[in-house]
Amino acid sequence: METPDYKGLYLKVKTDKKTKTLVAAVFCSLVVLALFATLYSRSVLEVSVNGEKLGNVNNNQILTAIKKELKEEYKNKLGADVEFVQNIKAVPVKALGQKLDTEDEMLKKLESVLTYRLKAVAININGKEIAMVKDKATAEKVLEQVKDYYISETPGELIKLEVVEKVKLVERYVYPKEVITPEEAKDLILKGGVETRTYEVVQGDSLWSISRKESIPLDDLIKANPQLKSENELALGDIINLTEVKPLLNVSLVKKVTYEESIPYKTEIVKDDTLWTWDQKVKQPGEKGSKEVAAEVLFKNGLRVSETVIGEKVLKEPVTRVVARGTKAEVAFRGSGRFLWPTVGQITSPFGKRGREFHSGIDIAQSKGAPVRASNSGTVTFAGWRGGYGNLVILNHGGGIETYYAHNSSITVSVGQQVEKGQQIAKVGSTGRSSGSHVHFEIRVNGSPVNPLNYLNK
Ligand SMILES: [Zn+2]
Repeated sequence: METPDYKGLYLKVKTDKKTKTLVAAVFCSLVVLALFATLYSRSVLEVSVNGEKLGNVNNNQILTAIKKELKEEYKNKLGADVEFVQNIKAVPVKALGQKLDTEDEMLKKLESVLTYRLKAVAININGKEIAMVKDKATAEKVLEQVKDYYISETPGELIKLEVVEKVKLVERYVYPKEVITPEEAKDLILKGGVETRTYEVVQGDSLWSISRKESIPLDDLIKANPQLKSENELALGDIINLTEVKPLLNVSLVKKVTYEESIPYKTEIVKDDTLWTWDQKVKQPGEKGSKEVAAEVLFKNGLRVSETVIGEKVLKEPVTRVVARGTKAEVAFRGSGRFLWPTVGQITSPFGKRGREFHSGIDIAQSKGAPVRASNSGTVTFAGWRGGYGNLVILNHGGGIETYYAHNSSITVSVGQQVEKGQQIAKVGSTGRSSGSHVHFEIRVNGSPVNPLNYLNK
């Protein structure tokens, strides 16, 4: 191989001006070409979302910075991490002839087309997602509020709380509209998501009438209101459910509850020989006692299910009611030809003038229910109500003689009946114009009242 003679070429160039110019031209062209080639081969990133070109940025670092800034911006605004729903596509393209976006321009373009999902927390009950809330702390607060609701709705001191269902909190990205407020989540769990309709009890309502008014089968109405044990518990202004409420969480509480309960009194009967056999008297009125009961009560979703009494303390002993029952038997009445006393007792008002009035008989005090006896044998000519006399019996004894027995509590004979002397014809009372129970007794001769004391045996 032949070695080129560099020295000769150099000398030649140095000496040849024409050649010198040519070399310079070639050199310049090469530089321009190189510059041009560099420019031509340089690339930028073309950014598109869902196939729609948005513009160009210089490089990936800028795009990454923009994305980061956007996410920060949302996070500050929404208080949660976000992810973009759409894919941001970035493809390198030749820079030549392309307009380059500033960082700010690209950010605005992306912001206008991108939608996002928030990082939120799903409350999962028995494997079913039932509500999406902002974050874990919110979810935990909602669950606490549900428990607190049942605790505050029931009386007593909490011993045990149990949630039947398995609850899990799961973090995931969701659309903003899927996230509900803590209040909504609490309501959803307590009411089971069914829109609850209620009704306010008005005068004269019964479950049956409400069922007709609202066109709801009675059975459904009863199911929707387990708190009502009987119709008697419907009170004016009560709010009752028209739809059954099925909470998503079943919360069981055991609470120690103390309450006061009354103790009924006993009745004791004692014999009293100062009273007639038909008589009784309350010697001592009964009084209810009271006790404090402590019980462990089981509540399910706020409703009392069962209770176990764990202690009782008597606050006040009951007072026994004592009733005296009479044992004094009547002495048998026997006829002696004269008239019998219809009952034995004190004369509280004699025959004759009484102030401006005239008392046509005698009043004999006797307790209510005692027998009134026929003063002599005869026929019942009247047995019934007569004005001021109240329940009246009139007997006709023949020979123009009649006897009257007034103010009876009841009558035991009827008109036309023949009665024997001493036979019971009525019971003592205080009907008609009367104060206190007594027998008003009259004897009439040819229709005119006479003083009975002149006829009665002594
Ligand atoms: Zn009288």
